[in-house]
Amino acid sequence: MSEPSPFDPPDWLDREDAVLAPYAMRTRLSRGRRYPEPSHPYRTLFQRDRERLVHCTAFRRLMHKTQVIVAQTNDHHRTRLTHTLEVAQISRTIARRLALNEDLTEAIALSHDLGHPPFGHAGEDTLNELLRDLGGFDHNLHALRTVDVLEERYADFPGLNLSWEVREAFVHHAKNRNAAEVQPYLEAGQPLLEAQVVDAADSLTYDTHDVDDAVGLGLISLEKLDGVEFWRQAAQNVVRPGASPELIRHSVVRYLIDWQVRDLLQHTLDWLKKERICSVNDVRQAPGLIIGCSPEIAPLKAELEYFLHKHVYEHYRVLRMKQKGRRILQALYREFIRQPELLPTRFARRRHDDPVERVVGDYLAGMTDRYAQQEYLRLFHPTVDV
Ligand code: MG
Repeated sequence: MSEPSPFDPPDWLDREDAVLAPYAMRTRLSRGRRYPEPSHPYRTLFQRDRERLVHCTAFRRLMHKTQVIVAQTNDHHRTRLTHTLEVAQISRTIARRLALNEDLTEAIALSHDLGHPPFGHAGEDTLNELLRDLGGFDHNLHALRTVDVLEERYADFPGLNLSWEVREAFVHHAKNRNAAEVQPYLEAGQPLLEAQVVDAADSLTYDTHDVDDAVGLGLISLEKLDGVEFWRQAAQNVVRPGASPELIRHSVVRYLIDWQVRDLLQHTLDWLKKERICSVNDVRQAPGLIIGCSPEIAPLKAELEYFLHKHVYEHYRVLRMKQKGRRILQALYREFIRQPELLPTRFARRRHDDPVERVVGDYLAGMTDRYAQQEYLRLFHPTVDV
């Protein structure tokens, strides 16, 4: 018998069984891909999904899409891409501690905002109104459409041909629970723990980084935040006398993230035990979600979110950005519907398969903030090149 080469891959399926918790999703249990593909010699199913996502066009565009603050306001606040990376690393920390499938968790985290149009929630609301006759617009379903249909990277199949479990994660937040494409996924039961981790990480990530960005851009002051219990308690633990405002901000934000992750892990481990969750099937059949923060943290988090709504998301500068984004999308939509010949060839071609409203909607939803602004100038500014 020949010696095993150091390059011979271990059996990844056995390795997943050896290291993952019994309630973790694993390749063996996957419902697989829509178009069957041979397995890879040394990358797992979900690892390949994660890598496909990082290589796709929609992922790169996250760099120039608004999270809350329009991308080019300055160079330091979060964009959809940096938000996504923060969610991915916090999710991975949680997944590792719970012995969940890290590859799957990361694939879900890296793709969780893939379907967002330009200009953040203002962009989504605007497209939802414009596309009302086609059932509206939902970034979750648009993400599914992006990875299943719109990405063109493989000769053998449309989209990225991701595993069922990664695609399922898009659908659990769909606003229209009755949409035809949603049903098969919802029938599976509760979301996998890997998807639940990403949801919880998303929420704690944006709450903390939105405060951070808002202070950084001068939308709110540290003094004002002292009136928020969550912030005040965190500050009491970490702020040293004489610290600069910058250091105060960074220390408190760091503490808030760590505090919430610790709380979430403890609460979740207790809950898994209490509910006797011993398999993926138990997760599916559970009466509710399993991953979440404790009842002690929940009201503190809710108060912070209320504060953010009142003082950040409705700040006049944020509202101006939203209004501008909305106007740009409305103008582009009207112009392309009025004269679809103005669409770039790749989209004009799709008019044979889809109603023009859907084609224009897909074109607009895929745009970055920057591209939408440039396209607006190309269409309407008399001296900008087309
Ligand atoms: Mg997000």
